[in-house]
Amino acid sequence: MPPAVTQNQPYLSVVIPVFNEEDNLVELHARLSVTLNASPWSWEVIYVDDGSKDASWELLCRIQGQDPHARLVRFNRNYGQHMAIFAGFEKVRGQVVVTLDADLQNPPEEVPKLVAKLEEGFDVVSGWRQERHDSVLRKIPTWLVAKVTSRVVGVQLKDYGCMLRAYRREVVDAMSASHESSSYIPALANLYASSVGEIPVAHAERAAGRSKYGILKLIKLNFDLMTGFSVLPIQMVSVLGVLIALVGLGFGLFLIIRRLVVGPEVEGVFTLFAILFVFVGLQILVVGLMGEYLGRIYREVRHRPRFVVRETRDSEAGS
Ligand code: UDP
Ligand code: MG
Repeated sequence: MPPAVTQNQPYLSVVIPVFNEEDNLVELHARLSVTLNASPWSWEVIYVDDGSKDASWELLCRIQGQDPHARLVRFNRNYGQHMAIFAGFEKVRGQVVVTLDADLQNPPEEVPKLVAKLEEGFDVVSGWRQERHDSVLRKIPTWLVAKVTSRVVGVQLKDYGCMLRAYRREVVDAMSASHESSSYIPALANLYASSVGEIPVAHAERAAGRSKYGILKLIKLNFDLMTGFSVLPIQMVSVLGVLIALVGLGFGLFLIIRRLVVGPEVEGVFTLFAILFVFVGLQILVVGLMGEYLGRIYREVRHRPRFVVRETRDSEAGS
């Protein structure tokens, strides 16, 4: 049995980031309420409108007017999915928090499964999209992210991109308190969780609209991830630098000896060009990585708010 909770302290809080999802919201809320009303838990859902340009906000307001379970947060512009989830995290009242995509790719019917798993004693339960309905081009980066993140964070997960996840409130509060300016939530959660479970969840094709993640946004996320969670990349670069320098030295020696024995070689010029390019490339990489860390420090010391909330709606106060 879930612990008793009062009216304004629901047991379960669902957080859903929304960015131009007008075609999915009504069905999403309908399916979510059917599922959760049939569950033993009291619940709320927090929709965070991440600066949608379509009718999403109007729809959300209508949904909220009809169903007091719904609570709304609206950003003044688009800050990205992870920021939207953070804003939701700051509002949650439940002891268990579930995040979900608004595009119906994560079926709302899977939420009880996650919560049940969490109640087995996990701090975080992550969904794992077994049969993923996305293009191959979209799957490869995800696979890479999972590999890299598992390494960097030290928690092995098969799917680090799945946003159908459940958290204990303490983990969510720790994440909110961390005030990271750019954060990859699944990785951050694992830092604060003592036990992480993973269960297979269904994955549907995007019901309507299109994915908001282009390849550029994904690369940015990965860079964030690598530099945000460890200094390993910078150390690896240094080691690589030493190795390459040694190889270069060896090659230089070889060229000198060859010159003494065989005599000068004009065609070799192009080999040298090739070597030069390797070095230049490496230097640029190093500068880029340093810049990434510097930029991160710069962002942290400015203490700018991570997002600006334009409006919130709650049935709490009046109605
Ligand atoms: N999303 C958001 N802000 C953004 C991009 C996406 O709030 O800038 C939301 C979007 O509405 C959806 C979820 O994040 O609920 C996942 O987005 P999407 O389906 O585009 O990502 P994908 O499924 O391709 O990973
Ligand atoms: Mg999607």
